[in-house]
Order: sequence, then C-alpha cells, then structure tokens
Amino acid sequence: MLKLEDVSVFYDGIHALQGVSIDVPEGKIVSLIGANGAGKSTTLKSIVGLVRPASGSISWHGREISAAQTKDIVRRGIVLVPEGRRVFPNLTVEENLALGAYSRTDRSEVKKDREMVYDLFPRLRERINQSAGTLSGGEQQMLAVGRGLMTRPELFMLDEPSLGLAPLIVKMIFEIIREINRKGTTVLLVEQNAHAALEVADMGYVLETGSIILQGVGKELLADDRVRKAYLGEI
Ligand code: ATP
Repeated sequence: MLKLEDVSVFYDGIHALQGVSIDVPEGKIVSLIGANGAGKSTTLKSIVGLVRPASGSISWHGREISAAQTKDIVRRGIVLVPEGRRVFPNLTVEENLALGAYSRTDRSEVKKDREMVYDLFPRLRERINQSAGTLSGGEQQMLAVGRGLMTRPELFMLDEPSLGLAPLIVKMIFEIIREINRKGTTVLLVEQNAHAALEVADMGYVLETGSIILQGVGKELLADDRVRKAYLGEI
C-alpha cells in the first residue's frame, strides 16, 4: 500500500536517509526502530511531504507522492501523529478532537468516530471540557492519537508515541494501537522502545545512521541477537 524505494534525504549536506526502502502492506502494523538520530522521524516526515527526498520514490496505492503537498497526502488518507504530543493547549479536549475532523463533511460519521475515540480513551471522555494544556503527559498523548484518528486515516503513522510516558500508559497506548489496527487501519510506528514496537508489529525495520540494516517479521527481530544486543540491552 505504501512503498518507499531507495529514498535519500539530505539536510544541509547531512545525508540523513541513505537509500531507505520500506514496504507497508495494507492492514498490517510495521515498526521502524533505531537509535537517536538514525533518521526515523525523517522517514515519516518524508512520507507526508514535510521533507523532500533528493532521490528515490514514495508511492501510495501505486501512485507517486514524493512531490505531493502535505495537505493532499493527508487528504489521501495518511496521517502523522508527530513526536511530542502536539495538542492545542488553550483548546479543550473536545475542541482538539473537532480540529482533527475539520475537513470532514460526514457529520454523523464524525460523531461516531468521536465516540470511538472516547471509548478507546475513557480518560478523555472524563475531561471533555478541560483545556488540553492542563492534561498530564499521557493524557496529551492520548489526545494527540485521538485527534489523528478523527481524520479517519487509512495509514496511521505515530512518531515515538511512548516517549516519556509511564510504563502503564505505554502499555495502554500499544494496546490501543493494536485495537486501531484490528478495526482496519494500517499502522506505521516509529519507536525507540524497540521491545514494545516489535512485539506489536507484523513487520519491523531497523534503521541505523540513515540505512535499513535489518528487516523481518516483528517477533523474529525481537529474537535476533543483533537487535537484542543493540536495542534491547540484552546479552
Ligand atoms: P530521534 O529518535 O532522536 O528523534 P530520529 O531517528 O528520529 O531520532 P531524525 O530526527 O530523523 O532522527 O534525524 C536524522 C538526522 O538528521 C540526525 O542526524 C539529525 O540531527 C538530522 N536532522 C534532522 N532534522 C534536521 C534539520 N531540520 N536540519 C538539519 N539536520 C537535521
């Protein structure tokens, strides 16, 4: 469904992505793991057109999107929840969710999706009128994920959803990712938390200094000595 082929990205001479190829099949969860600065965020940004590849191809349902505008890419069903729980702090929970759906015209479906988000995150339902800036870090992450879901994406991309969250909240976020996927949404996940990311994934990729060095079935990567040593702190 989404295919990156030999994608290279430069920032002022830094070769941030060096020929990255990734396949995201429909209905699957794909995880991209790697250390700080490996190029994980850059990969997601290139998919939504926030950075431009110098070479290579990015195709979505067989059509090239590497030169398309971000708003058109989002309209075609790809949504990125960026790193750092970006919510509108002065707006309420409900208003933040409404903004996620601002370009949709199918009102009754939007209402259903809002209920779905509140069912996924009962804590948000309890805080409908609270301003987002006063939510805890975990709650803000739930809201950022919920807002992304309000656009009803076909491909949902999350950049480090577990960053800085308590273990119980991390567990919950990953359960929700599984649940979203069960309901039919394809997921591309970027994580430093390699264990959680590979456990939930159908397919995994390991990115090191701008190149994919390993790829395979999520659970097999979890058992791979190189992954265990470098990313799971084992052996
Ligand atoms: P992290 O887990 O720390 O977020 P990452 O794997 O997501 O890391 P990227 O943010 O994609 O890594 O960064 C890849 C490389 O590109 C890094 O060396 C980074 O310093 C560099 N880089 C990222 N954004 C820019 C930019 N706007 N200008 C210059 N260099 C950048």
